[in-house]
Amino acid sequence: MSEQYDAVFIGAGLGALSAASILAQRGRRVLVVDKHNVPGGYATNFKRKDFTFDVSLHSFDGVVRGAESFKVIEQCGVADKVEFLHHPTLYRYRSQDVDITVGHRDLEGYKRELYRCFPDEVENIDRLFAESQRNYRDLCGFLYHERPFWLRFLSTPFIYPRVLKYGHETVDHYFSRFTSNERLKEVLSAQWSYYGLPAKDLAFGYFSYPFIDYLQNGGYSIKGGSQALSDALVEVIEQNGGRVELASDVKQILVERGRVGGVVTRRSGMVRAKNVIANISPHAVVALAGEGHFRQKYLAKLRELKLSISGFQVYLGLNCPLSELGVGPEEYIHFFAPPKSQREQFAHIQAGELHADNTSWSINYFSNVDPTLVPQGKSSLGLFTLTGASDWHALQKLDYRRKKRALTDLLIDNASSVLPGLRDRIEICEAGSPRTLTKFTHNPAGAIYGFEQNTKQSGLFNRFPQKYPVKGLYQVGAWTFPGAGFIGTMLSARLLADRYF
Ligand SMILES: Cc1cc2nc3c(=O)[nH]c(=O)nc-3n(C[C@H](O)[C@H](O)[C@H](O)COP(=O)(O)OP(=O)(O)OC[C@H]3O[C@@H](n4cnc5c(N)ncnc54)[C@H](O)[C@@H]3O)c2cc1C
Repeated sequence: MSEQYDAVFIGAGLGALSAASILAQRGRRVLVVDKHNVPGGYATNFKRKDFTFDVSLHSFDGVVRGAESFKVIEQCGVADKVEFLHHPTLYRYRSQDVDITVGHRDLEGYKRELYRCFPDEVENIDRLFAESQRNYRDLCGFLYHERPFWLRFLSTPFIYPRVLKYGHETVDHYFSRFTSNERLKEVLSAQWSYYGLPAKDLAFGYFSYPFIDYLQNGGYSIKGGSQALSDALVEVIEQNGGRVELASDVKQILVERGRVGGVVTRRSGMVRAKNVIANISPHAVVALAGEGHFRQKYLAKLRELKLSISGFQVYLGLNCPLSELGVGPEEYIHFFAPPKSQREQFAHIQAGELHADNTSWSINYFSNVDPTLVPQGKSSLGLFTLTGASDWHALQKLDYRRKKRALTDLLIDNASSVLPGLRDRIEICEAGSPRTLTKFTHNPAGAIYGFEQNTKQSGLFNRFPQKYPVKGLYQVGAWTFPGAGFIGTMLSARLLADRYF
């Protein structure tokens, strides 16, 4: 039987939708299959009454015309279909001893704030940012230059040397090249919850691109929520002859004589394809293809890989404008850090011992950026914390509800301490737990960022590869290189298309 498709994608998360849009524009016959009836995976919205909430996006780095990250948006064909709304400020970091607001595209202003808080570190701060910007330029060259991938890869030691020089150290190790001030290092990595590990364990290679991209090019939301981006990608795929099949899980990956032959989907049955590109966890890929097609050593290595942490988010719709709670229009993300090191916090997070005194949390004032998501005169915000998956998935229904309610209350209490009167203004309250994340994506243990980005699992050589040992079987999205995030998963699509198609 001849192949119906050049590539079938399992899952319609951002990684798959982006790669399918690139391949469809190149004239390839593509099919994207998702078990859910809405495309986007984590990049999706939900509605409660007249309020629309973006499930996942807090901040999308660098998507402004002319910046490197925008090239991915252009390549996927959605540059004129989606509007990116810049955040009034990048973030505010609040702890006992430091209160810093980082402006929109204002790296110099940020440095001045750091000089104010750490007056003995002025020279070190300058050296650190000068080298981090050089490193960012090397990374951009490696990721975006028009030369073929293999040529960029071979020339990395000569043209983009910092990609190799710093690629395998932790964020803390890199910062320690410039300063020994522990507080400064923690303040510099204020956004660590975006990467899911403390700076002492987080791979610099993964952190270093968005670190500078956010500061130089800003943080953004998508007008209409991230569903607008997912829907626009579907439109590009369909306009270029591709097909997106929703509410139809892939039940099997067909492997014949060491090569993929297609998939079996719930709605279409057997679908023949030359290539199968997975946007789901590699554990699920192996199960769908059958363990027998993989060597024992490969399976053992896969089992050893650590999953990323999970997260818990509360979505609040308020019956008043944010200004009534004293929130100014310039405010967007606030990170609240307790007087504990990131590693101490992470230990509590993994154990599910969450409290404002021992773990950081954040507020996103959503409607300050996109008021079209809420009814007039009302507002919305999100409260977020990382959390270990621990027992979330095993709990009986009632115990699960109780646990979810307790963490929701805790986050609302935290927020009420900085927004007095918040509770009285809540019209909508919804929460997403590690179990919710698994329910909607099938990602194991509610992993929010695929595999953990420690130095052993990060970077071009150490990240779970895009190519499986079965011919024609590939991986795209958060689980593979470079990793999670809106830009991370879209970049994985660009690299996959450049490298293998
Ligand atoms: C709460 C939260 C906040 C976040 N905040 C940010 C942020 O501010 N900035 C940022 O850049 N990133 C953020 N992220 C991360 C970002 O959302 C993800 O990294 C990214 O969207 C993951 O995309 P993906 O391509 O890996 O696919 P996923 O989103 O994991 O989608 C996988 C898809 O596969 C489908 N699927 C699973 N099994 C099957 C099957 N058998 N058959 C068919 N389909 C199947 C699922 O239904 C799903 O649609 C956040 C994530 C979360 C959860």
